Parts: sequence; structure tokens; C-alpha cells
Amino acid sequence: MFESLKKKFTGTIGKISDNITEEDELEASETKVSETTEKSEIPDKSSNGKFVDESVKEIQAESESKSEPDNNKSGFMGFLRGKPKTSKEVKDDSEHSAETELEIESSTDEIKPDNTETSEEESEKSGIFSFVRHRTISEKDIDDILFELEMALLEGDVAMDVAEEIIKSVKENLVGRKIKRRNDVSDFTKEALKKAIENILDIEGRDITMLIEEAKKTGEPLKIMFVGINGTGKTTTIAKISTYYMEKGYTPVIAASDTFRAGAIEQLTYHADKLGVKIIKHKKGADPAAVAYDAVEHAKAKGKELVLVDTAGRMQTNINLMDEMKKIKRVIKPDLIIYVGDALTGNDSVEQAQKFNDAVGIDGIILTKADADAKGGAALSIGYVIQKPILFLGTGQSYSDIMEFKPEWMVEQIIG
Ligand code: GDP
Ligand code: GDP
Repeated sequence: MFESLKKKFTGTIGKISDNITEEDELEASETKVSETTEKSEIPDKSSNGKFVDESVKEIQAESESKSEPDNNKSGFMGFLRGKPKTSKEVKDDSEHSAETELEIESSTDEIKPDNTETSEEESEKSGIFSFVRHRTISEKDIDDILFELEMALLEGDVAMDVAEEIIKSVKENLVGRKIKRRNDVSDFTKEALKKAIENILDIEGRDITMLIEEAKKTGEPLKIMFVGINGTGKTTTIAKISTYYMEKGYTPVIAASDTFRAGAIEQLTYHADKLGVKIIKHKKGADPAAVAYDAVEHAKAKGKELVLVDTAGRMQTNINLMDEMKKIKRVIKPDLIIYVGDALTGNDSVEQAQKFNDAVGIDGIILTKADADAKGGAALSIGYVIQKPILFLGTGQSYSDIMEFKPEWMVEQIIG
């Protein structure tokens, strides 16, 4: 489920992390290179041994000619102190032999702290990620990558508003954050994406079981009307919802209010018979509102807790269809109108949901075929676009293949 969406988000986390880390590595290596360049002028036992050797020979030669062994030491120490022209100094020193002793002593003292400091500095600079210590994430670091993500989301059927909101939220969250450790970048990005998606999915809805219980107290069944176009899995979903609430101990009755197609009545009857659920049906072409009304009366008469009303699903642009929906709504006053959409149709299902919402007002959404949906665009967008919660996901073809939708589950699925 939603593999492609997951790939996009985890890819973004990796890219942002790599981008910032690479930039800093580059900066660090540049600093190192310039340091090394400076140091190469300085004779150094390890990196410029030849220079040292030659200079030492030079000093030795000079010292020998002057027969003053101490100068040898002084000259050599001078090199270690990082003064390339020490050989001259050596000469000078040897000429002012009175000062030589002092010089040597002080230079010996200086050598140790100098060397220690340099090696500390060096190990710090070469310490791979010590550089990020004062780094702050800038807009420049993430702009291109987030733009790429936005394009990828749009391609993956994520609604424009949703893609924009995610990018905006992640940017606001990340820019200006201080990085202290290497993993901070990916941790922060992951966190920012999670927050953005949680906000997108966080839409208040009512718990159906609670609603059933409330209705029960008044002696009424809970009436749920299912809307959506044909082929999305509406009939199967009604059968699944029957199963789901039967398992919770409730007794549903199904209303075959799609009287437009004979096939719809047959199909629903097939499921109802298999499940042992009472189905109220009229002839093809009958008044759908009358069928729904009868089902409600049946439930009241028999003390059944749940009325599940199937409706016709011609194109959502069909005015007669919408009038039919409105009439059913007027006649039975459903407690919930649930839009059933096919997750695989992406933006189309979001658009359809909007049309039904405009016409009759939707309380919640069931997305079918989530099991086959790699893109996840509809699942991520649909609730945000119409500001109604996803209640269930259809996850297969059998009656038990339905799960209550939880935003935190979705976040876990796509961010991990
Ligand atoms: P309707 O015309 O909207 O009533 O659609 P149906 O209920 O007849 O379903 C159409 C097809 O989608 C059927 O083959 C169902 O088995 C299949 N279907 C429905 N829901 C799901 C689901 O959640 N996952 C999968 N994989 N298939 C589903
Ligand atoms: P059962 O005892 O649970 O099998 O239900 P009944 O067949 O006795 O029906 C109870 C009520 O539901 C009746 O008063 C009818 O009004 C209504 N009903 C049941 N089946 C149908 C049907 O096919 N069409 C219509 N319109 N109403 C029905």
C-alpha cells in the first residue's frame, strides 16, 4: 500500500540530508585543503621531510664550520616551530652566541604547545562531521528538493492544495533549524514531513459505533446512506460494513436503493444472502427513496440497529442522480452519508467526492482498493480537500477486507 508515496517521502529525507551533508563536507575539505597549502610552506617532519632533511644538513654544515653544536639544535627546533627561514636565524643566533641558550630554551617550550594545538585542530577539522556544529538549515538547502517533491506528489495524484500545504509546512519547520549532529538533518526532515502529513490527515470525525449506541438509546436505527459512482466497490463495501458491525453484535438491514440498474439489486441480494442479512428491495425503476423508507421501517419494526442504503451511481455530473440522492436524504434523514471512492482513480475520486459533497453533504469517506494502490494520492488528499474524514479503507475482495482508517497508521505507512 502507498509504496510510491513512501518512496517519495523517504527519498526526500535522503536527498535533503545528503545535500546538506555534502555541502558541508565540501566546505570542510576546502578548509582542509587551504590549511594544508599553508602548512606546506612550513617544514614539517611528516609531510615535508625532504625540506627538513636538506635544511638540517645545511645547519649541520654551518654548525660544523662554526664548531658550535648548540646551534644545530636551535636550528632544528626553529624549523619545528614553523619558521622556514630559520637557517638564517640560526646563522644570526650563532653570531650572537650569548643569546643562543635562551632562544633554544624558549623555542623548546614553544614547540610543544604549538604542536599539540595543531594536531588538535587538525583532528577536529578532519573529524568528519564536526563542521556541522554551527550549521543552520537555509531555504537554499531545501528549496530545489522540496520543489521536486511537490512535482512528484502531483504526479502521484496528490491534490494540488495538499502538495502545496506539505511543502509549505516542511519548509517552515526546517528553515532556521540548527544542526548539531549528523543525523539531525534526516531526523528533522522526517519529523517535519510527519507533522505536515498528520495535519493533512487530522480531520475530526464521529465514531460510528458510538453513533449506533446513541441512536439505540432513542430506539432508532442508525441510518447510513452510501453514495458514489458505479464500479468503485460500493456494493462490496456495504457487504463489508455489514460484516464489520455484525461482528460487533449489531444487526443491519440493507436497502437496495439503486433501482436504476437491475444488476445492482441482484448483486446486493447476492451479498446479503451470503451474509444472511435482510435486504429490502423493490423492482427496477422503483422510487429509491421509498425503498430506503421501507428499510428504515423494517429496522424499527425488528429492532435492527443499522440501515445501510445503497444508491445509484451514474456519473456524478448527472442532475437526476443528484436529485435522487437529495430525495432519499429528505425522506429518511440519514445520520451519515458516506462517499465510497476507488483509491486507484486518484484525483478522479477526489473530484467525485467534491461533487457529492456539494450536492448532499458528505460525513465521511470509504476508499476501496487501497490494497492495490501504490500511489496513495487519493488517500492522502481526499479528506483534506473536502474536510471530511476517511472512515475505512477497503483492503481486498473478501468481506473481512476492511479496516478502520487511522491517520497515525497512514503516517506510519508512508514515513515509517
Ligand atoms: P460497485 O459497482 O461500486 O457496487 O462495485 P462492486 O462492489 O461490484 O465492486 C467492483 C469490483 O471491485 C469487484 O470486483 C470487487 O470485488 C472489487 N473491490 C471492491 N472493493 C475492493 C477492495 O477493497 N479491494 C480490491 N482489491 N477489490 C475491491
Ligand atoms: P423479516 O421478518 O425480517 O424477514 O421481514 P419481513 O419480510 O417480515 O418484512 C418486514 C417489513 O419490511 C415489512 O413490513 C415490509 O414493509 C418491509 N419489507 C420487507 N421486504 C420488503 C421488500 O422487499 N420491499 C419492501 N418495500 N418492503 C419490504
